[in-house]
Amino acid sequence: MARARAEGARQKISVLRIGHRPGRDPRLSTHVALAARALGAERLFLNPPDPSLERRVGEISKRWGGGFEVVGAPEWKAVLRSFPQAVAHLTMYGEPLDELEPKLRGADPLLLVVGGAKVPSEIYRLSTWNLAVGHQPHSEVAALSIVLDRLLGTPGPGGWPGARQVIVPQRRGKKVIAPVAEALP
Ligand code: SAM
Repeated sequence: MARARAEGARQKISVLRIGHRPGRDPRLSTHVALAARALGAERLFLNPPDPSLERRVGEISKRWGGGFEVVGAPEWKAVLRSFPQAVAHLTMYGEPLDELEPKLRGADPLLLVVGGAKVPSEIYRLSTWNLAVGHQPHSEVAALSIVLDRLLGTPGPGGWPGARQVIVPQRRGKKVIAPVAEALP
């Protein structure tokens, strides 16, 4: 069930992806970025920075609308410091999502942190919360998506501000329109 807040009171959520390996696993970090964007986060801080990934996700954002951005983050601790008392590190070792959910809802803006193959041990101490989406190993994309859906709800159909193309849901097949071009006389 969608639990989105009313527009205007929407919780501001950013995501920090640590442990990205530029040139080695662009696909997984790209999926983290696309899931963050599609499920309502405002930005992805990417550590270490990867200009090529930032450019590719920027092109997708231009086409599909919304204000999402990927920001290169050379220092992940500096990003944490800019979200005092509002950092949720996603890890299977943390406290259950059901228990932390009320606290996460009260944190606005909120930073969600996801790791890669290895996570620096300091992150457990520097985060406000260590947040588990179940207590089995799975994936940063899955964990992030579940938390965003829980806090913001999954967006419904319709174009996002500035979109050059919009999907019209179909029972079968695909329909995509260009809203600006079709609105012209
Ligand atoms: N052993 C690692 C760990 O400490 O969680 C697993 C790394 S996993 C391949 C990559 C990332 O996925 C983790 O850093 C975490 O952010 C996320 N993740 C995986 N399983 C999770 C879970 N059950 N709950 C929350 N986050 C999870």
